[in-house]
Amino acid sequence: MKYHSSQSKRGFMKKLWLEGDTHGGGPGSTRYRDLDEVKASKAAERKLPWWIREVDKPTVEIDWGRMKRFDSSNIMFVNGFSEAVGPDNAMKLGKQSAEKATKSIIENELGYTLREKALVAGGWLTSLLTTEHAFLGPEIPIPFTMSGIPDGFDYHRYEGTPEENTRMVRAAAKLYGADSVGVVELDENTRKLIYEFDGWDGRKWEFEDVDRAYETKKNKVIPYKAKWVIVYTIRMSPLSMATAPAALATAASSLAYSQGTSVQLRLQQFINRLGYQCLADGNMGTMGNSPGFGVLAGLGELSRLNRMISPYWGPLVRVYKVVTDLPLAPTRPIDAGIFRFCRTCKKCAEVCPSNALSIETEPSWEVQGPWNNPGVKTYYEKAPNCFSHWLRIGGHDCGICLAACPFSKLDKSFIHIHNLIRQILSTTPVFNGMFRKLDGDSGYGRNPETWWDSDLPTYGI
Ligand code: SF4
Ligand code: SF4
Repeated sequence: MKYHSSQSKRGFMKKLWLEGDTHGGGPGSTRYRDLDEVKASKAAERKLPWWIREVDKPTVEIDWGRMKRFDSSNIMFVNGFSEAVGPDNAMKLGKQSAEKATKSIIENELGYTLREKALVAGGWLTSLLTTEHAFLGPEIPIPFTMSGIPDGFDYHRYEGTPEENTRMVRAAAKLYGADSVGVVELDENTRKLIYEFDGWDGRKWEFEDVDRAYETKKNKVIPYKAKWVIVYTIRMSPLSMATAPAALATAASSLAYSQGTSVQLRLQQFINRLGYQCLADGNMGTMGNSPGFGVLAGLGELSRLNRMISPYWGPLVRVYKVVTDLPLAPTRPIDAGIFRFCRTCKKCAEVCPSNALSIETEPSWEVQGPWNNPGVKTYYEKAPNCFSHWLRIGGHDCGICLAACPFSKLDKSFIHIHNLIRQILSTTPVFNGMFRKLDGDSGYGRNPETWWDSDLPTYGI
């Protein structure tokens, strides 16, 4: 592997460009002429409006000493639910859920018909297709005539400063479909956000002082030198989420999973081609705590939902991550007044049909069960209540809390949290109670029938 400067890379890329672009679908169809242009592009800069302040620590308190690496088999979808309610109950509820889903389909129940469920299934597809080989990235050779990189070329490794690389990665991720992008550096604390076990395949996540990542039947090994986490968000359709708890809301999240996978695979290909490793989990989130990384990277703040809320799109985002040894400059956490607003708002907890969310004013260090990882002073949720409700409605997401959150209604409710309100929220808590009262719109339960007939924007956004 040889190293050389950005400048020589620029010349090299230009040469490849001129010599390799043999048809119109090649590099000429992209917006950037080379990596230096990608880095210098507007999309590469993290530009925050004044009402989002960068801060040294997240707005939620973290006690790293209390935190340990989490066994993700404790999450509800893996063993967590069965452990919480007992295997027999879990089996019984699962059976009832399938019966309910069957009845809904046969009887054409509004919001839960076959076409809605089929839409959910279509949304998942890319994500599930690529889960198995996601750790090291897809080893799919892109032909010279498509990539401009000669076949079998033992290419030089790309070199840039960490700041340049962060800008470059942000621009690339956005081009591939991410909405916001940040970076967290792994150290003895933040490494605790990488799970101990992958609940999806039962293998152990381990760190070793090795040069290359590798996997066996029992473990997946991340080199210590791969110490940068690229975190990015994918938006979910507010128009679909507004039909929650109808199955259309699940279609918004299943699609976002697939879009997250799509960005991940492209980032892996991109970063591999630059000469670096890019490791991931297949986007079921089983490598680590994505919302936690999102909060540390400043893509949003933690909330009463115990999930990340974006200052732009509220909780209607999914958070994804990849780990790389490409040196990057970390981004800082933010304060936009969101976690503070949650103290007085409580709307999600009030509308939750399963009482899964905390109604307490103050966050707490006390976890609700083994599905929570201690060490954060937050609003821990009763996840089994939530998951039971999902089973009761026929085995898909409920999503009422996400759709109801005032931060989800940027454009559509009568009293929406538009820029002025967001600016006030970020600077003073004095009006938080008033803003909560003004948010009279429930935000969920829209008629799914009208959704099908509406002139939807792309991705429903
Ligand atoms: S998804 Fe539904 S049941 Fe679960 S916490 Fe949100 S509102 Fe409650
Ligand atoms: S509904 Fe209110 S309390 Fe719940 S997450 Fe949104 S802002 Fe916070």
